[in-house]
Amino acid sequence: MTAMIPGTLRVDTPSLSSADFLADPAAAFIALRTFDRPTLVVSRARVAAQYDALVGGLGDARIHYAVKANPAPEIIRLLVQKGARFDAASRGEIELCLSQGASGADISFGNTIKKPADIAYAHAHGVTLFAADSEAEIDKLRTHAPGAQVYLRVIVENSSADWPLSRKFGCARSALAGLMGYARDQGVDVAGLSFHVGSQTRRPEFWNPVLDQIAELWTAGRAAGHDLRVLNLGGGFPATYEEDIMDAGTYAAAVMEAVAARFGDVPYVMAEPGRGLVAEAGHIVAEVLLVSRKSPDDLHRWVYLDIGMFSGLAETMGEAIRYRIETPHDGGETGACILAGPSCDSADILYEQRPVMLPVALTGGDRVVIRHCGAYTSSYSSVGFNGFPPLDVVVI
Ligand SMILES: *Cc1c(COP(=O)(O)O)cnc(C)c1O
Repeated sequence: MTAMIPGTLRVDTPSLSSADFLADPAAAFIALRTFDRPTLVVSRARVAAQYDALVGGLGDARIHYAVKANPAPEIIRLLVQKGARFDAASRGEIELCLSQGASGADISFGNTIKKPADIAYAHAHGVTLFAADSEAEIDKLRTHAPGAQVYLRVIVENSSADWPLSRKFGCARSALAGLMGYARDQGVDVAGLSFHVGSQTRRPEFWNPVLDQIAELWTAGRAAGHDLRVLNLGGGFPATYEEDIMDAGTYAAAVMEAVAARFGDVPYVMAEPGRGLVAEAGHIVAEVLLVSRKSPDDLHRWVYLDIGMFSGLAETMGEAIRYRIETPHDGGETGACILAGPSCDSADILYEQRPVMLPVALTGGDRVVIRHCGAYTSSYSSVGFNGFPPLDVVVI
């Protein structure tokens, strides 16, 4: 059987050197092909290189890849082969990891809001690490995952992240001691603590105030006799979008230095990068459908793409994540544009509060490449709102 080759080879094939392929395989792949619908191209080689860089910086801390960032089976399989562990939020994600060769012992069930049947499923398949942030969830774990090692998630303040995770997950810091005591009374093993510094935390020093909060709780928990030995740092490792980010290894090493200074030797430190591991490995190729003005004296052009909020670019919500966009006219004169998706929902506007500068020569039919889209795009794409196809994914 011949493998189907996604995309059609371009007639006007640009010449690319092997260095182009090595530096950015997804960009090179896109340059050589035409596509008839919005497509995310993700490079396994680039994910592997990023994984190695993170491992280099993280030292003894173990990576549990946050599966939701990009659940492409080929990426999960690659990471299994590289020795990664996984952070799953549902039965579906656990099944995915198992199907790609991960063992249950390598998977943590990190959602603090779980279905009892999913807990039982995970337990039956060898998952031993579970998150909780409430008494009711601890009760569920005691019943459906006896013997589990539970890490308690705490809400942290002062997040400087571009995509903060608010108060949905975690218990208040003031409630932690009570929760740890409750778990102990129930015979549940409180193995450690977890938090999330907020996604896209652009600089390592932003971790410091958050680590201070967790270290204080860690010390108090140990003083109260809890055998804390798992420190789950969550995600937050950033990717380059509008602003250039330092390389992943240097960033991770700086975070680990800050961790070591506050926690000393912890038997098991886990990090759960999602975005920081896969975002830069992929780009989306899309098309301009229309460039227009609302009136002749409109200061902004409206640029409508064939991809929007509901077909993969959900993280433009609140204009939080600012993607870089390449066009065929780069280098020419630019002007301010409001960027929008194709659907008939007026919420489907990507950037308006802060318009994007795009070439004045941009026109309908032009192809654009949205850079560093390997995380939180395909997994956020709806099944086909308004009849627009969901984001196609090609893993190379
Ligand atoms: C989403 C998530 C992550 C990944 O976060 P990134 O900022 O993408 O690295 C890690 N841990 C948990 C518990 C998450 O929910």
